[in-house]
Amino acid sequence: MTGRGFVRAFSDWKFSVITLALSKGRIFDETLPLLAAAGIEVLEDPEKSRKLILPTNQDGVRVVLVRATDVPTYVEYGGADLGVTGKDVLIEHGGAGLYQPLDLRIAQCHMAVAAPVGFDYQKAVRQGSRITVATKYTTIARHFFAQKGVHVDLIKLYGSMELAPLTGMADAIVDLVSTGKTLKANNLVEVEHIMDISSRLVVNQAALKLKMARIRHLIDAFASATQEA
Ligand code: AMP
Repeated sequence: MTGRGFVRAFSDWKFSVITLALSKGRIFDETLPLLAAAGIEVLEDPEKSRKLILPTNQDGVRVVLVRATDVPTYVEYGGADLGVTGKDVLIEHGGAGLYQPLDLRIAQCHMAVAAPVGFDYQKAVRQGSRITVATKYTTIARHFFAQKGVHVDLIKLYGSMELAPLTGMADAIVDLVSTGKTLKANNLVEVEHIMDISSRLVVNQAALKLKMARIRHLIDAFASATQEA
């Protein structure tokens, strides 16, 4: 096959396949019933397989497994046609170039400020004061404290944020809270609710035009399954 022939065959194949980007864990598990509503069954268990591309019972649909924070990037650049990702991830990414048709109401939790038990948070955030906050979610935290008129020194972390106040590196953290058990286990308390978080369906805008009927079918099936849940 010539180079041009290969490119044509690849783009024909790409046009015929719908690729959905998911992250392992809660989002993957909670997306399965939505896929089932569209007649799609993922044929391998990501917890058992090392494969990054999972086949489904439909030849024209596959799932790619990526880090949660990479889902918007894969969809933005066309590595995937659609993806499921948290509102937190979308805000941090910026959401440029992504069509966001649906709140799937899965992987629900909330974003909060937490501080060590006994820390006088109200005093620390009085207008004009300064606070040091460790977080992975710097865009959300910066915007939240700016709205309150609080000067914030942000320390960017990629995990285990609970450790930052315990080691004296920060006064507080901004993190996702689900059951609250992680905060409690680390002697931290929630001092402020920032926003509710759930996962959304995101779609590549070019794919939406090129594969309109198949993507619409998925969006409609996801929408009715979400309403029934
Ligand atoms: P929990 O102990 O149930 O409150 O869970 C808190 C821990 O789980 C924190 O480390 C969070 O970053 C993480 N977490 C909770 N909910 C989510 C979610 N929907 N997506 C990603 N991480 C989460």
